[in-house]
Amino acid sequence: MTITESAKTMRVTATFGARFELCDIDSPTSHPVPARAKGKRQRPVTGDRVVARPLPGESDWQIESVESRLNELSRTDSRGRRETLAANVSMMVVVVASKPQPDWFVADRYLAAAELMPTKAAIVWNKADLVGVPDAVQVYRDIGYPVIETSVPQSSGIENLRSLMRGELSIFVGLSGVGKSSLINALSGNELQRTRAVSEANDEGRHTTVAARLMMFEDAVTVIDSPGVRDYAPALIQPERVASGFREILQASDLCRFADCSHRAEPDCEVKARVNDGRIDERRYKSYLRLAQLNRQLSSQRY
Ligand code: GDP
Repeated sequence: MTITESAKTMRVTATFGARFELCDIDSPTSHPVPARAKGKRQRPVTGDRVVARPLPGESDWQIESVESRLNELSRTDSRGRRETLAANVSMMVVVVASKPQPDWFVADRYLAAAELMPTKAAIVWNKADLVGVPDAVQVYRDIGYPVIETSVPQSSGIENLRSLMRGELSIFVGLSGVGKSSLINALSGNELQRTRAVSEANDEGRHTTVAARLMMFEDAVTVIDSPGVRDYAPALIQPERVASGFREILQASDLCRFADCSHRAEPDCEVKARVNDGRIDERRYKSYLRLAQLNRQLSSQRY
């Protein structure tokens, strides 16, 4: 007797062109299964929740529908097209370290992208064995972002990071060389090797780019990673939405005289008042101005 298996809600763990890899949403460490989409219009990405069913007599599953997304991690490609790398991210871990030297504008840009997705975000000060947390990082604590100090060779702070990430779908971003891969490895135990081996076996030897790969570790720690995710440059933000990417600026802007205040030269601007008396960090304000300027330039080139 053949029993037609019923449809299940699954998670997309990797995409290889028109092929996908799914895992059980309720048993995160279950073996991933290969799948294909129902039609060309269906474009699941890593992190998507999908309804899928095993195809009778085949090893493949078929994705029947993609559930609506909580958010998307997108970047703008070299031709100016928006590309979605992953969906349903709930924690953006922005990694900074003393080496390579921090670029705080890059960190602010990631945090702004997180606010607008929206998703939670945290700062990790890695390589704490080399240099302790600098004052610049304290600013993020004051604004309300969790800040965790880690050292991979000393295995310190890794458990704090694990607690922060428990139950979340996390991504790691930051400059190349700050230690993102090392941190992910430290969190993974042996899981990483296993996940990679399975994914590559499913790739049938074809050379395809994996946009992003989802990995599940112990304690409900789930990471979406790929070189593209780690180095992703956030997509263009509409210039008038940039302030929403800076929570302390957004909060103050309620008290500006003009509802559409750009916080540059308008009178009675609460944001500038707070920068002047030190309640808003000047460097963060400069990041806001720079990001607003960048997005104005990019959008005027585009249209
Ligand atoms: P990624 O490019 O951000 O993924 O960085 P990697 O994980 O490849 O790490 C870059 C370099 O930094 C490697 O040589 C790591 O061994 C080193 N590294 C990573 N974490 C730490 C740390 O906590 N302390 C020290 N001293 N070195 C680290």
